[in-house]
Amino acid sequence: MLLAGKFILGTIIASFIQCLVWRQVNHVSQFIARSFCDTCHHSLAFWQLIPIIGVALQKGRCHFCQHKLSLAPPLFELFGGFFASRYLTLNLYAGLLFSLGLWLAALAWFDLLTLSVPNILLLLGLIFCLSLRFLKPTLTPFDLVIMLCLCLILVIFNWRHWLGAGDTLVLLGLMLAFGWYCTCLILFLATLGCLVFNIFAKVAKLPFIPFLTLTYLGLAYVFPPLFGV
Ligand SMILES: [Zn+2]
Repeated sequence: MLLAGKFILGTIIASFIQCLVWRQVNHVSQFIARSFCDTCHHSLAFWQLIPIIGVALQKGRCHFCQHKLSLAPPLFELFGGFFASRYLTLNLYAGLLFSLGLWLAALAWFDLLTLSVPNILLLLGLIFCLSLRFLKPTLTPFDLVIMLCLCLILVIFNWRHWLGAGDTLVLLGLMLAFGWYCTCLILFLATLGCLVFNIFAKVAKLPFIPFLTLTYLGLAYVFPPLFGV
């Protein structure tokens, strides 16, 4: 019962982050009461706003204008629900990992909607990742060498425009927080997800932070020891 409550709360938080970022990007007041359809601007009914279920009940199309709805919000809500069911606890470290998930989710939505992320949000998250480093065991010289090599590779990827500056900094932040092994695994799985997605979507330029975020949320749920839990 408690797990179900945490899951539902996680889906609501994921939906709330998406709503906050969408309104910020589209210069819509955060204080208007009811959300509306992006296409026909019709106010949404309560049942349409229920995370995951709202899209399912509308069969993937707006109830009013039949415009096809993006599957990204319910996907983030689903991952957010599972992630919260494990990390929404009174444990301090779990709370920090949950906060990192919130930061990544906000960045992911900015990246999805604008293909860029706000510098201030990026900077605050990087400081947060650095503070997580102090809760971890001291790095061995071997770890440091691998991390420096990986930093160099990421910088080259960024210089060659294979990775955006935001993607590169998020990966560096994850490496600060969780070390090179965990970051390599996130990078590998996110790249795989991106490639598979592109086979179906065939988009010229894909935002990468959403893939990194979903990988972090999924991996942290399935395999907590990787993140020191
Ligand atoms: Zn509509």
